[in-house]
Amino acid sequence: MSSEANHVLEFPGGYTRSVGPVIGRFLTELRDGRLVGVRTANGRVLVPPTEYDPDDGEAVTGEFVEVGPAGTVKSWSWVPRPRATHPLDRPFAWALIQPDGADTALLHALDVGVFEEGADPPRFLKTGMRVRPRWRGERTGAIGDIECFRPEVTMINAPTRLEYRLRAGRALDRFLEGIAEGRLLGHRCPVCGQVIVPMKGMCPRDGVPTTEEVEVADTGTVTTFAVNNLPDPRAPEVPFVSAYILLDGADLTMLALVAGIPADQVRIGMRVKAVWRPREEWDKTMANIRWFEPLDEPDVPFERIKDYV
Ligand SMILES: [Zn+2]
Repeated sequence: MSSEANHVLEFPGGYTRSVGPVIGRFLTELRDGRLVGVRTANGRVLVPPTEYDPDDGEAVTGEFVEVGPAGTVKSWSWVPRPRATHPLDRPFAWALIQPDGADTALLHALDVGVFEEGADPPRFLKTGMRVRPRWRGERTGAIGDIECFRPEVTMINAPTRLEYRLRAGRALDRFLEGIAEGRLLGHRCPVCGQVIVPMKGMCPRDGVPTTEEVEVADTGTVTTFAVNNLPDPRAPEVPFVSAYILLDGADLTMLALVAGIPADQVRIGMRVKAVWRPREEWDKTMANIRWFEPLDEPDVPFERIKDYV
């Protein structure tokens, strides 16, 4: 683990120290929102790329290969009390992440949604866990263009602070009252103005209470999705798709099922609409929405949703 420790000390400047053509290409691609590796003479793909194969010292081929951006956690170490120089201001893990298609792992911060300073790592944080990057909206060509990695299918993280929990409880109750009337309700943050659906009673960005109620449409855009092969009683037959959907009028995505389309045809930017159960079956539960189905509308260009992916 000593090499991991070295990387930790170097982050975030470590990759910019010796920008030759190979690392320069890596950073340029990062700026454009892509993760690339370089192929070695014996066919392996190194990420982050280096100019020489660390195995045999041979110069790499110069062939760049797009990888990930999703990947698998190979090892991690928990940081319960981040310091000012750390990339996140709440507990997180340093993780070695092997992007899909790469033969090596890169070190980055993994945000698992833990808010309480000093907290233990959550039980779902495991080697083998699937993650994907959260890109910054404004990128400069540095490893920090990836703000952090996040779990690919985020569990609904129970907020840890009591105040947050109480507010979230009241807000969820009000949200479900809306659902019982066939309406999707959210809150507008008084500081940043973003509309949060379902509302949590607090802005996750600013940490301030939210009360201004806003109704949003039951149509939206898929920003991230995962194909699930394990049966789930709430879901259509396997494989089914769970997706983060940016509802029209909302500024934060919502996790929901997507059906009515083969799993392999679901895509980022796809327009969808909620499929409600028959009105007489409605109750004060999210199950009123069966799932989301595709709308016959052109996809939203990636540029317009990239900050939500
Ligand atoms: Zn806010």
